[in-house]
Amino acid sequence: MTGTPSAAKARVLSGMRPTGLMHLGHYHGALKNWVALQSTHDCFYFVADWHALTSHYDDPSVIARATFEMVTDWLAAGLDPERSTIFVQSQVPEHAELTVLLGMITPLSWLERVPTYKEQQENLKERDLATYGFLGYPLMQSADILVYRPEYVPVGEDQAAHVEITREIARRFNHFYGKQTDLEARATALLRQLGEPVLRAASAARTAWLERGDREAIAAARQSIHVTRVLSDDERELAEGWLTGARRAILPEPSVLLTPTSKLLGLDGRKMSKSYGNAIDLREPPESVEKKIRGMKTDPRRARRTDPGNPDDCPVWTLHEVYSDEARRAWVRQGCTSAEIGCLECKQPLIEAVKAELAPMQARIREIEAKPGYVRDVLAQGCARAQRAARDTMERVRDVMGLARLDASS
Ligand code: SF4
Repeated sequence: MTGTPSAAKARVLSGMRPTGLMHLGHYHGALKNWVALQSTHDCFYFVADWHALTSHYDDPSVIARATFEMVTDWLAAGLDPERSTIFVQSQVPEHAELTVLLGMITPLSWLERVPTYKEQQENLKERDLATYGFLGYPLMQSADILVYRPEYVPVGEDQAAHVEITREIARRFNHFYGKQTDLEARATALLRQLGEPVLRAASAARTAWLERGDREAIAAARQSIHVTRVLSDDERELAEGWLTGARRAILPEPSVLLTPTSKLLGLDGRKMSKSYGNAIDLREPPESVEKKIRGMKTDPRRARRTDPGNPDDCPVWTLHEVYSDEARRAWVRQGCTSAEIGCLECKQPLIEAVKAELAPMQARIREIEAKPGYVRDVLAQGCARAQRAARDTMERVRDVMGLARLDASS
């Protein structure tokens, strides 16, 4: 494996907690997008094993195994280690160092007000989550992102708010440590080099941001700079810093990359989740796919075959939204509301579609598992590549935070 992702593409970063085998909810909710992004972006994808410990610190026995299984499934689903940097959070200690350093500047109230903090404590009542680690998980998440200085974080619409605290922390960091007296002159000179139209568009975007908080204008300006030339790290600090204020952007604020997410539900009509036991795994054998979909809940109004139903109240419909074309969806809607088709008839094309989707992935899982050490090698290479990027950021961070250097150049 010798490939290196192109430095000319905008970087995206995303991670998943090692919960074990991937299911269709993971695939259609995130993984499929990760695979697609590989052709347009410089992708960094990581196993968030420290995050698994924030809520499952008392039962860590499954984390290591789940890491390998999950990455096997990622690879089988189409992640390509030649095009993506695939790594494990705990193998890149710079995540922890940046978490500690950002902890110095992050107000406690910012962490306490993260909506998922209270929500998760409510949802996981059986666990004692009144820990420092659990409170700090959004901070660690911010460090996970900022240590790679990505342009984008791919998220579904409902998670866009999660990136906000990362942006706030980056802004606060740059406010404290990014002071530079000649920033205005240097940044405008740099942008002028990229052409007067770029400078004009950037100036207008900067005004729109400073006066009205217009984030889209900033994202468009970034994009126009990006397509004109790939900036060096120093140039990017300067340009980003000037665009969003008057400080160098040592930790650039990432933008949200909104990605389409499916609303695919589990077998019982709740969100598909391993812990609810309502999932179809990517490794699900064909007979089991058939059995599970045949037994899937439907609109409760269709107690009898002759009762009409409504697809909008049926979890099976969320599968049709993913797997069926318009003609088939029209057939379902018409047949369901008039009771012309039965639920088993409605489910049959889905059984075929899911089996057809999973068959090549399962063949690939078998191939990967037949090569002992392959996943370990992929991760070792990914961790080394990730660490090079993280080290570069940490050198800058240590410098501006006034920490001593003991190497020969100091
Ligand atoms: S016919 Fe299809 S959409 Fe209608 S209730 Fe049955 S399974 Fe659901």
